Amino acid sequence: TRSFESHLNDELATVAMGKQVAAIIKQGAVIYLHGDLGAGKTTFTRGVVQGFGHTGKVKSPTYTLVEPYELERANVYHFDLYRLGDPEELEFMGIRDYFSPQAICVVEWPEKGGEFIPVPDLDITLSYVGDERKIVFKSTSERGAAIVDKLKK
Ligand code: ADP
Ligand code: MG
Repeated sequence: TRSFESHLNDELATVAMGKQVAAIIKQGAVIYLHGDLGAGKTTFTRGVVQGFGHTGKVKSPTYTLVEPYELERANVYHFDLYRLGDPEELEFMGIRDYFSPQAICVVEWPEKGGEFIPVPDLDITLSYVGDERKIVFKSTSERGAAIVDKLKK
């Protein structure tokens, strides 16, 4: 496991960190985002999605569970499982189809998905430091380790 940690002074820093990760990802990745409500998971995801070339809004798919961004550079799928009742619902929505090896899948509240979501490459935790935030990256695959190594440089 490789890990990397950074302090995020403000919202812009959180977005910039997401963009930095997007710039590093070569092919697909499965990214789990942990952290309390308001910790910055959606803000970070906005950076990732914009980093892949999306110029419009990024809103949390709280009721739809997934928001697809099918962009020129990659397909990015943003999941928010906060309101997921039964993890089996994921099977009905055909969740496996989103997790192709080339896709970037960013998952808020992955713990709600149980075993119905694929294992991650990167496990990220956002937390409060007073009014500011901290982000901790842990790699959980070779693909994830390559990303964390580049973040360290
Ligand atoms: P989550 O998806 O984890 O519930 P959001 O990204 O929706 O959180 O909301 C995070 C809130 O915190 C937003 O109001 C955003 O402006 C703010 N925020 C994001 N990053 C930072 C930061 N590094 N420092 C201070 N405030 C931040
Ligand atoms: Mg959110």
